[in-house]
Amino acid sequence: MQILDGKALSQKIEQNVTAGVKEFKAQAGCVPGLAVILVGQDPASAAYVAMKKKACDRVGFYSVTHEMPEDISQDAIEKTIMMMNENPNIDGILIQLPLPPQIDTTKILELVDPSKDVDGFHPYNVGRLVTNLDGFVPCTPLGVMELLAEYNIDVQGKNCVVVGASNIVGKPMASLLLNANATVEICHIFTDDLKKHTQNADIILVGVGVINLIKEDMVKEGAIIIDIGINRADNGKLVGDVDFENVSKKCSYITPVPGGVGPMTIAMLLSNTLKAAQINAKKRG
Ligand code: NAD
Repeated sequence: MQILDGKALSQKIEQNVTAGVKEFKAQAGCVPGLAVILVGQDPASAAYVAMKKKACDRVGFYSVTHEMPEDISQDAIEKTIMMMNENPNIDGILIQLPLPPQIDTTKILELVDPSKDVDGFHPYNVGRLVTNLDGFVPCTPLGVMELLAEYNIDVQGKNCVVVGASNIVGKPMASLLLNANATVEICHIFTDDLKKHTQNADIILVGVGVINLIKEDMVKEGAIIIDIGINRADNGKLVGDVDFENVSKKCSYITPVPGGVGPMTIAMLLSNTLKAAQINAKKRG
């Protein structure tokens, strides 16, 4: 069994982005900028935003976080996004999800300029992904594809089972695999007999949020396991959705949690923001 080391690869990508920022600065006379909108006091969201901010600092981006209270109005968030859309110092706009219930999240995501949509959540970019055209791809599944490529794992013709069907993880993951010519199945909360689907998979990619959802008897010998889940166990440790201890004895490759897909997500946010800066600089002429 080999560990798919997302931490090591993310550091390599960060180095490349840092070099890219220097080159960009020499040509454009400014650095890429990322704006983050954080609503409310959710500690997990705040921790993610802090990690993203630190990563931006490490690679030399300009970054700004708009912290807003839990009871903020739709109108106030929309005004901030429109300001960021117009701001030439901002290349990427990231809305930390989830937003509070009074906010229409779809409307908010649709307001982000697609050329600044570094999370790839705008329907324009979703459509481009589904039709296999260049655009912004959600960072977590994009990071998974980079990790597979780093270990020379070609998904073409492989039976891939994606467990979890959210707009930010499962669905874009399935699209990327399909674009790379894998045979893809998507399972979710209403899937009957999950094991029936996973036990024949060459690659299982799980992003659900349920500790130990994928157990040894659900995995075929030599399968590749990508654990996208992030859960806090009773002992306070971060764990994924896979029973790592037992599944790792049976599979050929596996991502650890932490140190697998998580760091790749942040690395992809950095590379998407650099890409946005390059696109926006070209548009400015
Ligand atoms: P979500 O709640 O939006 O979606 C969960 C999905 O899992 C749904 O499609 C649901 O149908 C499915 N599901 C729930 N219970 C299931 C079960 N018992 N069997 C099969 N399917 C089931 O969540 P999300 O935002 O997609 O996040 C999923 C997980 O991925 C969470 O643990 C989250 O923390 C993690 N995540 C990790 C990263 C990362 O960087 N590694 C990024 C985003 C999300």
